[in-house]
Amino acid sequence: MKFAVFEWNGSCHVGRVDDHANIIHRLTVDHALARTAGVTAVFDNPDVSVVEDIPLSDVVLKSPVPRPHRNIFCVGKNYHAHAKEFAGSGFDSSAAKGEVPEAPIVFSKVPESVVGPGDAVRIDAMVSTAIDYEAELGVIIGKGGRNIPKASALDHVWGYTVINDVTARDLQGVHSQWLIGKSQDTFCPMGPWVVTADEIDLSDTAVKCWINDELRQDANTGLLIFDVPTIIEAIANGITLKAGDVIATGTPAGVGIGFKPPKYLVPGDVMRVEIGGIGVLENPVESW
Ligand code: MG
Repeated sequence: MKFAVFEWNGSCHVGRVDDHANIIHRLTVDHALARTAGVTAVFDNPDVSVVEDIPLSDVVLKSPVPRPHRNIFCVGKNYHAHAKEFAGSGFDSSAAKGEVPEAPIVFSKVPESVVGPGDAVRIDAMVSTAIDYEAELGVIIGKGGRNIPKASALDHVWGYTVINDVTARDLQGVHSQWLIGKSQDTFCPMGPWVVTADEIDLSDTAVKCWINDELRQDANTGLLIFDVPTIIEAIANGITLKAGDVIATGTPAGVGIGFKPPKYLVPGDVMRVEIGGIGVLENPVESW
């Protein structure tokens, strides 16, 4: 099943999208909760029911988790070909430890960086013009836990979405820690909805990204260096994961920094990220 957050009739709602993505079934979720917790408001909530059916074309989709309750956990260098292109870019402050990491590299993005489908990712030329895209599978945690073993890690996943881990490469390099380069305002497009975990085959899900009409990234989650259970085990190692946490699992090869010369984003570009079984997340790039 697909769950989405949308604007309609002047307020924010949560709904279930039908299989053909034609109709959205509006659910009984409080508007304020829809605007912050989004789809996570329906977790273990037996009181949620359908209010009415609305044509999907009549609504404006928002991020399925518009304001995550804390930072988004993210994994760096998690596909072999991308680890190689990034280590060779000159911006990789972790390169001294080797091209391919021995354990997941985990950083975070602040919750306020999240935007929804169709929202502009804004480039502030006063801050950075070395802006890059990163197509990623996003994991939505449904059941919290601490010291979660790999074998049962997927029991904690509620669903999956599409995330674009937009990055200011120069800031990522200058500050060694990646938070500033990754957390710029508007730098975390997410959507178009969350698909429940039962519908996604993690061993074979396509991850693609186009910039304008050029296919730049074309990979598969089966190629992840650290798979989703391994990532969850690593993050929950002494940190209590909570329902509603969001994890971005890393991007494959083909980011702008991998080209010589680099192909950075410029105002007017359109980023289109598609993940098999989930959908398409498209965002224009604009100036501040
Ligand atoms: Mg990333």
